[in-house]
Amino acid sequence: MKTLKNHSSFSKKSFYYSSLILLTSILFLSFTNQPKDNLRVEISKNINEENTLIHLNLRVHIMQDITMVHSTGTIMKNWILPRDIKETIMPEVNAIWKQANIQWDIESIIEENVVKGDTYEESLTFIAGTKRDSEGHSDAERLPHLYSLMQPQNMSKADELDKNLFHIYLFPFIGNTSQGNAMKPFNWSTVVGTWSNKHNKGGVPEKTALTEDHNSFKRGSLSRTIAHEIGHVLSLKHNQCETDCLMGGKSQGYMLTDEQIAAARLAASKRLK
Ligand SMILES: [Zn+2]
Repeated sequence: MKTLKNHSSFSKKSFYYSSLILLTSILFLSFTNQPKDNLRVEISKNINEENTLIHLNLRVHIMQDITMVHSTGTIMKNWILPRDIKETIMPEVNAIWKQANIQWDIESIIEENVVKGDTYEESLTFIAGTKRDSEGHSDAERLPHLYSLMQPQNMSKADELDKNLFHIYLFPFIGNTSQGNAMKPFNWSTVVGTWSNKHNKGGVPEKTALTEDHNSFKRGSLSRTIAHEIGHVLSLKHNQCETDCLMGGKSQGYMLTDEQIAAARLAASKRLK
């Protein structure tokens, strides 16, 4: 009888503990299983309701010691100076991003010599010769070639990749009819050409203007191209815009839609860690 009583008391205790563990597990699971979208909406709501100025850090790499030759005979070198970045380009990029209340601060400007590995010459020839396909897509095969020219020590460290440090690489030329590429598969090592032949559909490349009048879109300035590409880095795609569109759409220009502003601010806020 005594044994039975003890046994029964043990069972009660054991039942009590099991229930406690079960309850804790349910609570834990329901907490961790909360859809990520809810969290996103919450962050998005906070960041947009508060509409605080978000500061993002940009490292600009001016690629040096690289001469690219186009099939038309044009010889292309980088002509951008750190002064152009500080005095003209960044003020214009920030004027464009003001609508999202996002400000880009220059973390550093690096005049970076390209890496000259075994395939350096082939890479330059390959990049200068790439074209868009029949559907208008740029050639993704040029991206590893561009990446191979970047100095690893000037890239983000592994633990900085999802933090508040963004990169723009200014190359002389990044392929026919291409002005910029956000390079998502290469840690968003975003490339922009200081020469372009997009405006003349693959003809003789010309130096890109630093800025353009917002009321008359001609070729898309270097500043506007940078503003467009960092939009991709902040999750934006080419979509759903009717007039004066920074991210592509029916008419090229400078504006972001309300949805794009909310999405870009959400992506930016996640980098502020
Ligand atoms: Zn784009």
